[in-house]
Amino acid sequence: MQTVNTLHMLRTALAQLRGQSDAGGGRIALVPTMGALHEGHLTLVRRAKAEADHVVASIFVNPRQFGANEDLDAYPRQLAADAALLEAEGVALLWAPMVETMYPAGFVTNVSVASISDGLCGAARPGHFDGVATVVLKLFNQVAPDIAFFGEKDFQQLAVIRAMARDLDLTRPHVDSIIGVPTVREAYGLAMSSRNRYLSSEQRAAAAILPQTLAAAAQSIQAGLQTISEAKSVAADDLQRNGFQVDYVEVVDAGTLAPLETLGDRPARILVAARIGGTRLIDNMAIAPARG
Ligand code: AMP
Repeated sequence: MQTVNTLHMLRTALAQLRGQSDAGGGRIALVPTMGALHEGHLTLVRRAKAEADHVVASIFVNPRQFGANEDLDAYPRQLAADAALLEAEGVALLWAPMVETMYPAGFVTNVSVASISDGLCGAARPGHFDGVATVVLKLFNQVAPDIAFFGEKDFQQLAVIRAMARDLDLTRPHVDSIIGVPTVREAYGLAMSSRNRYLSSEQRAAAAILPQTLAAAAQSIQAGLQTISEAKSVAADDLQRNGFQVDYVEVVDAGTLAPLETLGDRPARILVAARIGGTRLIDNMAIAPARG
């Protein structure tokens, strides 16, 4: 595996990869990350490897997607350990640019995906999804992958990136080649996250309540035992009783992320963001469409 940190090195390495296949154009998959890799990230890499000739992973802690009071400085950085994990998975190329390379002096462009970015995490984190869309469009243009992989754990992020790809007619990757990968969980149910390392062992135990609460709400809505609004308030109460500060519990259309009051004939999703101690956790699950 080659690790590169300048655009010139990236272009040279990509040209080598593309020239390597007999057909003269090996399929390239991109897996963007912020590093501090865990099994969730590595699952994306394995999916990518199964569907492309070469996997390019990126590691970039993107300052533009962190708010002023967020954990940019404290965000875990462990490039050497991450590189070893990626190499063991058979990644061909690691793109690990510096902030100055991504955002040189004079950088003034912002990519904003309206509406989908506004609610849910966008409400508590103004500008966050603009930062995500801007950096992901840059990564897409830099690497020009045939296919790209993102986790459903960050469900709103995936929806924002798909909307951007659709609206801007991206071709590398095309919107249909932006693949969402199901959330990888700890044995006790918590969605894996680089931020889980901030949790104490007591907080970790308490955090197991989060996916349980979400699954219970999804099931009772799906079975028609509770209305969406009842299920949301029961879930929020349960979380608060277990020491969480609830940011939101919301049920939305899985495609548009518009809030729902009743289940329709389209897939729905229940999403939650809640804090335990200083750590903000997010999670989401599918709710099957109502049966006609
Ligand atoms: P991050 O490094 O947190 O920006 O995440 C990089 C990519 O890995 C994103 O597409 C995330 O959605 C995905 N990811 C993070 N955690 C998980 C997980 N537990 N399961 C599946 N994908 C994940």
